[in-house]
Amino acid sequence: MATVTEYDTIAAISTPPGEGGISIVRVSGDQAVEIAQKIYKGKDLAKVPTHTINYGHIYDPTDNSLVDEVMVSVMRAPKTFTREDVVEINTHGGIVPTNKVLQLLIGAGARMAEPGEFTKRAFLNGRIDLTEAESVMDLIRAKTDKAMQVAVNQLDGNLNHLISNLRQEILDALAQVEVNIDYPEYDTEQMTTKMLLEKAKLVGTNIDSLLKTADSGEILQHGLATAIVGKPNVGKSSLLNRLLDEDKAIVTDVAGTTRDVVEQYVNIDGVPLKLIDTAGVRDTEDKVEKIGVERSLKALSDADLVILVLDSSRKLEDDDIELLDATKDKRRIIIFNKNDLVPVITPNDVEQLKDDDIILVTSAIKNDGIDTIKATIGKIFNAGIEDSSTDVIITSARQAGLLRQAKENLNDVISGIEAGMPIDLVQIDMTSCWDTLGEITGESYPDELITQLFSQFCLGK
Ligand code: GDP
Ligand code: ZN
Repeated sequence: MATVTEYDTIAAISTPPGEGGISIVRVSGDQAVEIAQKIYKGKDLAKVPTHTINYGHIYDPTDNSLVDEVMVSVMRAPKTFTREDVVEINTHGGIVPTNKVLQLLIGAGARMAEPGEFTKRAFLNGRIDLTEAESVMDLIRAKTDKAMQVAVNQLDGNLNHLISNLRQEILDALAQVEVNIDYPEYDTEQMTTKMLLEKAKLVGTNIDSLLKTADSGEILQHGLATAIVGKPNVGKSSLLNRLLDEDKAIVTDVAGTTRDVVEQYVNIDGVPLKLIDTAGVRDTEDKVEKIGVERSLKALSDADLVILVLDSSRKLEDDDIELLDATKDKRRIIIFNKNDLVPVITPNDVEQLKDDDIILVTSAIKNDGIDTIKATIGKIFNAGIEDSSTDVIITSARQAGLLRQAKENLNDVISGIEAGMPIDLVQIDMTSCWDTLGEITGESYPDELITQLFSQFCLGK
């Protein structure tokens, strides 16, 4: 698996679409240099030293017309990202010349790369493992400095090493079990069982601490899932608009697929928030909010953080109390809004408050207390991702799922031993755990997983 296989030569634009100083068209495969040479005039690329960048021009070979003035990097296998020969053509930025260069490369014999195909080759050719490949994607999508740092770390192979060490522990244990099965006369069964039990517990503890980081990883990658709730007219929309400042820094807008809930990503002073159930928050006419409370309740279960808004100028009503009760197990910020009006309720009047509730008094209209909300959200976000003492953080649901599965395999080992199961049956569960962990790093992987995983990449990566 870790040997370089021959694939066709692929090409793609590796820089983001649009105008820029330069764009890069990347070619990878055995024919990379030969194909590039067909459309390039300058030095003989077949003869230039590897890892050099060369000045020249791109021509359309069909009519000899000049297309662009370029710099061409030649990097020969194996010391390249894909471990294949790689040529990168730096064109003048701009969609037309860059596309033209790509078209010419395709005409000269390259195939258009699929999304993520360069990274996929790096994996198939054994240069990186799956966790490192996933971190390439994380790196591209990183929304904060911390997310970037974690991705770089994983790209460095830290998770790979950790998993490999755990697999080695299991392998050692399995080897001893083999000895026991082959030489039963030594009567080492009891010792072997004890050893297996200890190993299973040791590996299990390590998996547990990795799994603990998965929540932080999720927050890092996808933002703090936040629900802003409150009965109609308490000021949810107004507060959100204040939080977003003038620029309304909305990153993406995704309509929920399975549930009828709208998710929206916003950036509040560098903190990515995934807003849950913003339907009631976004509308200006508040038509949607007739279903407000009921709908908010549904969205609550997914929230890492609840911002519950109360109207301090109105009496506490059943809807408020229902929301206070429904969110009592959540980390929450309770906002007493409209403090510019004559107060009818204060925090002392609300017996549903908990000791660890964060209580803030604001006026969306007067822009009062908004900075405190921002600072509080920032603190919660940072606490969420810095809880983890380790540098290795599980950032993908795939990794977390496999870790949970490996943990179950270990639980089977432990309960099997405790139930006095024959050791060769226990061995099967231990082997399953070894396999499952191998799937995390890609040591053992089904084809469709590889296809699906790399297809999430952007083109040219
Ligand atoms: P939502 O239904 O919870 O989203 O509430 P809106 O943000 O749509 O606000 C409902 C009404 O309350 C609007 O007329 C707002 O102008 C008003 N409002 C919002 N926040 C405040 C505030 O802090 N003070 C005052 N006096 N009115 C506010
Ligand atoms: Zn509203």
